[in-house]
Amino acid sequence: MSEIESVIGEEQAIDMAIDSAIYDFLAKKHKIYAEIQVTDLVYCPRKAYFEKKYGKQNNNSSWGLFVGILLHDVLLEAMAEYLDGEAEVLTVEVFEIHGKLWKVFGMCDLLTPNYILELKTTSYLPEQPKLSHLMQLEAYLRFFDRDYGYLVYVERHYGKRAIFKHYRDEALYNEFLDRLYDFTHALVTDIPPSHIDQSLCKLGKHKCPFYSYCHSQP
Ligand code: SF4
Repeated sequence: MSEIESVIGEEQAIDMAIDSAIYDFLAKKHKIYAEIQVTDLVYCPRKAYFEKKYGKQNNNSSWGLFVGILLHDVLLEAMAEYLDGEAEVLTVEVFEIHGKLWKVFGMCDLLTPNYILELKTTSYLPEQPKLSHLMQLEAYLRFFDRDYGYLVYVERHYGKRAIFKHYRDEALYNEFLDRLYDFTHALVTDIPPSHIDQSLCKLGKHKCPFYSYCHSQP
């Protein structure tokens, strides 16, 4: 019997071991590689700003996140082999804004000689790709110098899938750059970014952890 089991009992120790395994796995997965990440900009930049300022506060189900990431990683590794690509390729682009150099980190899911593939595991397949996902793919097309890519959604329970092809889109990349400009302005001035995504304020039973604070800001 381990020391912890003798104190709290075996069943509780097993329960705690599961919680710790999930926590450790997610902590490793949420490593931050640079001061700004592509994903900070494509969802709700204001939320990403609050996370940098006050620390990440997760109110999603850790279990759901754990299962989603595991499925994503296992699938991606196998796909990389079939498609002759490289999984989870990291890069950093440097932008000069407000007289300062800003590093923006991006990690694409799959890089092949011809295209980029972003894989999303979801509860429901979307009829159209989500704007945030398209913008993420768009940024990677620029960062990794590819002309087109694919957004692939795989439904978690039955493995159904939807595949969308996306070519470079100037307007979408300009929107990404606008968000980057706004975000760096926020980091310099300490005024929250004006770009927000209200569809993320409330998701089902979950509210954004910064909801009250955010709605009291200009
Ligand atoms: S409450 Fe909504 S707008 Fe504000 S940070 Fe959260 S998701 Fe973004």
